[in-house]
Amino acid sequence: MRVDLHNHTPLCHHASGTPEQYLQKAIELGINIYGFSCHAPMAFDPEYRMALSELPEYMSTIKSLRERYDEQIDVRIGLEVDFIKGKEELIESAVLEAKVDYLIGSVHFLNEWGFDNPEFIGRYKHADMTQCWSEYLDSIAAMAQSGLFQIIGHFDLLKVFDNPPPSALLPKLRTTLESIKDNACVLEINSAGLRKPCAEQYPSREILQIAKKLEIPITFSSDAHSIEQVGAGYEICRDLALSLGYTHICAFKDKERETFALT
Ligand SMILES: [Zn+2]
Ligand SMILES: [Zn+2]
Repeated sequence: MRVDLHNHTPLCHHASGTPEQYLQKAIELGINIYGFSCHAPMAFDPEYRMALSELPEYMSTIKSLRERYDEQIDVRIGLEVDFIKGKEELIESAVLEAKVDYLIGSVHFLNEWGFDNPEFIGRYKHADMTQCWSEYLDSIAAMAQSGLFQIIGHFDLLKVFDNPPPSALLPKLRTTLESIKDNACVLEINSAGLRKPCAEQYPSREILQIAKKLEIPITFSSDAHSIEQVGAGYEICRDLALSLGYTHICAFKDKERETFALT
């Protein structure tokens, strides 16, 4: 079973190609369950996400594709939701109430700083990375504890510009993973990191090793923002999961977890 649950659409203004083209690529690659999870509307950083008024269009576009391609692929509808610690009220009730199969919670901001956006890379020069990682992990833990999300997006995204977590924070990485476990969230192995300066999937092998010991379930995603990114890097992520002893992967339907053999 091949699953890919995190893929974007042009509604977020920074992805190219139509959802139908993504789906055709997914079918070509033999993906069995394919999920769209575009950036959910929020009254924050509006140029990188769909507008609240576009949410119905997003839902209906994916639903009609799901019907049209029903015989060839199992299409799921999700949303990737920004979690900004201390600004939880920004999360729209329309997003939480939307009839989606799953919500991916993602931390892309430390306060106002969109740390994965190359536009703001200059801020790293003055950043205390131990402090940043500590705040980032606090945000991930709070996001897991919120109980709003089925999937934790790109767990160690802060390494994107090649700033891996300092080893002094290993105990904190562990407790963050424990909160994911305690709140029954699933970790995605996201291949987007392979095409970024950090040049490895999210999360790292070391983090996944701890996750495996804690028996945190996993899923796969390519986080595609273009047609050629659909399914890219999957084999690396799958082989990594297999080498760590993972035998199963997850997907979601109506926010209920499903488990499949990893082959
Ligand atoms: Zn994006
Ligand atoms: Zn993301």
